[in-house]
Amino acid sequence: MEPVRDDSRRALQAAFEAAVAYLASLNGRSVAATASLDQLRAQWLVPLSEAGAPPEQIIREMAAQADPGTVASAGGRFFGWVIGGSLPAALAADWLTSVWDQNAALFACSPAAAVIEEAAGAWLKDLLGLPSEAAFALVTGCQMAHVTCLAAARHAVLDAQGWDLAKSGLFGAPAITVFTSGARHATTDRALRLLGIGAASIRLLETDEQDRLRPAALEAALRGHGPKPAIVVLQAGEINLGAFDDFAALIPIARAHRAWVHVDGAFGLWAAASPRHRQHVRGIELADSWATDGHKWLNVPYDCGYAFVARPDALRCAMTAQAAYITHDDLARNPVDFNPEWSRRGRGFATYAALRQLGRTGVAELIDRCSLHAQALVRDLGRLPGAELLWAPTLNQGLVRFLHPRLGATEADHDRRTDQVIGAIAAEGEAFFTGTTWRGRRAMRISVCNWQTSARDVERAIAAAARVLQNNLPD
Ligand SMILES: *Cc1c(COP(=O)(O)O)cnc(C)c1O
Repeated sequence: MEPVRDDSRRALQAAFEAAVAYLASLNGRSVAATASLDQLRAQWLVPLSEAGAPPEQIIREMAAQADPGTVASAGGRFFGWVIGGSLPAALAADWLTSVWDQNAALFACSPAAAVIEEAAGAWLKDLLGLPSEAAFALVTGCQMAHVTCLAAARHAVLDAQGWDLAKSGLFGAPAITVFTSGARHATTDRALRLLGIGAASIRLLETDEQDRLRPAALEAALRGHGPKPAIVVLQAGEINLGAFDDFAALIPIARAHRAWVHVDGAFGLWAAASPRHRQHVRGIELADSWATDGHKWLNVPYDCGYAFVARPDALRCAMTAQAAYITHDDLARNPVDFNPEWSRRGRGFATYAALRQLGRTGVAELIDRCSLHAQALVRDLGRLPGAELLWAPTLNQGLVRFLHPRLGATEADHDRRTDQVIGAIAAEGEAFFTGTTWRGRRAMRISVCNWQTSARDVERAIAAAARVLQNNLPD
């Protein structure tokens, strides 16, 4: 065997050393970034030099410069937004994915990438309780999974009206109406917008006290809509409460009215992988399409999302790409027929590695463990002086609010105090939470989906919040 080029080896060695040092720092470093915007710009926004530089030197310098500008979301005390870490096997597989540098568009340009994706897709459907015959695509995240699924939906609901979308496009097509709730994620609207379906075509239906769509409201809306094209977007895991729509009640209603049902299950669909939490997604397998993430709860490195479509022909018709120069092997699965991208990363490797590292039991344990930690965090944060528990997690998301101590404090004072506490905890560096506006009031969101989060991390985060509340916050 020829020795590898010296510069390649040294660059990879430098990356390996920086990586191991970074992972070792996670338990002690500030969770929030410590570098300021100005510092980061001053070091990087410089003219590109005429001469190049040795790879190893670039990696060492970049690692040192990036370090204080990273948020330690790879570690166990990051509870902001909905963000996972990277399992060791998934992380290492992701490195190899870059080494192999496979184009996962076609079986012909990477047999390994194409087939490992088939394995990952089959395992995911099995774990998530989805129909085994569903088509799937490994995309960049749940946002693009929505685009992928809703492109199939758009094709199918227009096809049912005798409209050939691929030939005639959207101009002059029968109007499509989307029925959903006010609690949907913003990525739904953006996916629809990219597909030529604007905000005026989205109808928000009445929800219950947990922001779940009311079956009676859906029934009435679809009855009034008649046989025109309709898509219903439901949620498995709402972003604030983590609430689940009542799939067993809602999906049969939508089906009876021939509406396509799409489910946003960015993190919540993973409840299906846990016997303890599976009841939340009862009936979800009756939907037409499902979107979820790999980079959140499965703890695969960014970017990784999954789109599933019950009717393979709908996805294939929406996505397939043919060109004279591409090599289609009819026996194999070509990702380009199901994905919106052409050339693309071999995302199957990291997903396959994550699923193998955990196994079926490990995935269930991950879901259960994160949910228990979320419950403990929300409960104990809610018991701190001045704190108010707004929502105890159904799964792994909850809400807490902080009240201003002044007598006669207003809602605006409490809102300000809540944002101050969120900011002060982040500034202290021990833990990281983010805020939201829920029912018109500011709240701190708690989300747990990192494989590394331990009971000790939960204790440390609660202690950090307690310290912040003891200190004098500005008025
Ligand atoms: C995160 C999230 C999305 C968007 O997913 P990305 O992976 O960021 O594209 C959509 N819906 C919900 C409920 C989410 O939590």
